[in-house]
Amino acid sequence: MRNPKWHRDEIILALDLYFRTKPGNISAKNPEVVKLSKILNKLPIHDVFVVNNEFRNPNGVSLKMSNFLAIDPGYPGKGMVSYSKLDAEVFEEFVDSKELLHKLALKIRNAVGNSNLLIQLSKIEDDIEAGYKTKEGSILYKLHKYRERNSAIVKKKKNKYFRENGKLECEVCGFNFNEIYGDLGNGYIECHHKIALSQLDVEAITELDDLALVCANCHRMLHRNMSFMDIRDLKLIVEGTK
Ligand SMILES: [Zn+2]
Ligand SMILES: [Zn+2]
Repeated sequence: MRNPKWHRDEIILALDLYFRTKPGNISAKNPEVVKLSKILNKLPIHDVFVVNNEFRNPNGVSLKMSNFLAIDPGYPGKGMVSYSKLDAEVFEEFVDSKELLHKLALKIRNAVGNSNLLIQLSKIEDDIEAGYKTKEGSILYKLHKYRERNSAIVKKKKNKYFRENGKLECEVCGFNFNEIYGDLGNGYIECHHKIALSQLDVEAITELDDLALVCANCHRMLHRNMSFMDIRDLKLIVEGTK
């Protein structure tokens, strides 16, 4: 059985390890490679549970790292040229921002290390088909969604906003579900977590001020870009001033 293609999150983790490893140490016996192989086997990414023991085994991980070696202009003629387009894209994207890459990789590793959280995240569907792309990758995007769906804090946020404003409306465009849809829209609004995942601790507690109330359309638009969008920037677009 062929192993599934490497996912962006997996490439982020492998590339981060590549940048922290000397070319001579790229090997299936390197303990860091073995460790990453275990982490990749826990990531809730591939639909089919791959039951063969070749899935992202240390050999596969070191091969992927050799692919990066072939892409890396610092080592001409080295490495395995059988890399994918996505490998090269992610390499280009992060070659000059290794710190951000490491930050993201650490967050993904932290999420994988928290087995309760991992179970919650695996229940959240991937929206990539819906046109969502994220710099942070799928696991951290799911973490974002998990946070904004925490029903206790969402309820508190909505209650607070209602007490202060007497209505629920989109903080970006002012859309009010109750006004447009009548009783059907009563009490409906979505919550968006405003802190970029690259800035957020995996274990951090969500505060009311971290959340913004937004309509479904604005929420989608906030997530449409690769880079995290501030709600004030979307507001400027909606108001036609940007
Ligand atoms: Zn809106
Ligand atoms: Zn959101």
